[in-house]
Amino acid sequence: MDFTPIINQVVGALWYLIPIGILAATLKSAWFKGVAGEFIVNLSAKLFLDKETYHLVKNVTLPTEDGSTQIDHVIVSKYGVFVIETKNIKGWIFGNPNQKTWTQQIYKHKNKFQNPLHQNYKHTKVLESLLGLNENQVFSVVVFVGDSTFKTEMPENVTYGKGYIRFIKSKVQPVLTELEVKQITSKIEVGRLTPSFKTNREHVKHVKTIVAEKESRQNCPKCGSEMIIREVKKGQNAGNKFWGCSKFPKCRGVVNVT
Ligand SMILES: [Zn+2]
Repeated sequence: MDFTPIINQVVGALWYLIPIGILAATLKSAWFKGVAGEFIVNLSAKLFLDKETYHLVKNVTLPTEDGSTQIDHVIVSKYGVFVIETKNIKGWIFGNPNQKTWTQQIYKHKNKFQNPLHQNYKHTKVLESLLGLNENQVFSVVVFVGDSTFKTEMPENVTYGKGYIRFIKSKVQPVLTELEVKQITSKIEVGRLTPSFKTNREHVKHVKTIVAEKESRQNCPKCGSEMIIREVKKGQNAGNKFWGCSKFPKCRGVVNVT
């Protein structure tokens, strides 16, 4: 008996699964998710932000200590420079501005990821330093573009999808002149940031110091006061460092140095 017609029939019936499989793999791929995130930010900027006022610059390369880093989107306007970090993470999101890591939860599966506000804080500081701006002129915005739900209260600059537009539009106080907006936009656009930075190591040191200061700052778990690095004076732990409450001896709050 000849099986060829049957085989042909089976192959004929199954062959459409191949493009479906490719499509499904594409939709699941990190590449597509990245592109989708990009797309949401680009499209909503085009639709909801006036082109005359807001200038979107994509893929901005910034220098860092160990090379360079990429910011997907920077929006320059007289209301400030907005540095946008997109996060493609789905599920329940738990986090607060001061934590080093945030948590993603899908059913019972938990996953930690770097606090995007801290990540973007570095970007905003580098940009401030390179452009000679201050913290009232540069804003950090984090946009979650996956299918996610915040399960803890988030600051107003952490948003879903096109929600970041609302944050940008909430800034209505002009902090830059039209001329400054033009100069900043062209500086960022032509990518003149990297070479100038390489010749000027001061920026790196400057940013490193402020970031380190911010990341290590502690508040007393007992009374909320500032904490100070202290050293154990006696006993077998002598010489070890710890955070002690600045209100000592009135308050005896301590935190381990991590
Ligand atoms: Zn205290």
